[in-house]
Amino acid sequence: MSYLYKTPRLLKWYYPDLIWDFNSEEKCVYLTFDDGPTKEYTHWILEQLETYGAKATFFCVGNNVAACREEFDAILQKGHAVGNHTFNHLNGCNQSLLSYLRDIRKCDEVFKSKLFRPPHGRLSKKQRLVLTKDFQVIMWDVLSGDFDTNLNGEDCYHAVVKNVVNGSVVVFHDSKKAAPRLKAALPKILKDLSDRGFTFKAIS
Ligand SMILES: [Zn+2]
Repeated sequence: MSYLYKTPRLLKWYYPDLIWDFNSEEKCVYLTFDDGPTKEYTHWILEQLETYGAKATFFCVGNNVAACREEFDAILQKGHAVGNHTFNHLNGCNQSLLSYLRDIRKCDEVFKSKLFRPPHGRLSKKQRLVLTKDFQVIMWDVLSGDFDTNLNGEDCYHAVVKNVVNGSVVVFHDSKKAAPRLKAALPKILKDLSDRGFTFKAIS
């Protein structure tokens, strides 16, 4: 497997200007959904969250927001947070600083947010230094692995419920690729964590 479910402490320590988790005495977790909105899955995710009174954060791709306005508005109406995930879902490491910032600005013209998450978690050093001045750059503490077609829903469920602690930021995807695993895992994760006394907060 080419990635870890749980972000190593050393990586968090090495990049303290990025946000990996939140210091929390409270039993709460921060669920995040990347790459949407989508006509097919956003409403389903919102329904699952509502069942548990859960709030979450959606890192939206500007291009998808332009195409799925109704779904985007529903995210906001339900009291969730949204963050910039570039306009074209660019990998920062393949982009010059200027072209990357231009794409982020294009997303910012579609909707405003002070939160940013780099697609694929990839940023060059220069990009990181510039972006952390303007945004809270939100990484993660726990990956569900829902994007990995070698996994099944059960794997994703276990990855999340075993690894979360107070203040964890957890990554899911609002996408066609992730949907089979997300649909199997998310309802069980919400139930399991709720039963254990966790609440679910949006990043503010
Ligand atoms: Zn993404």
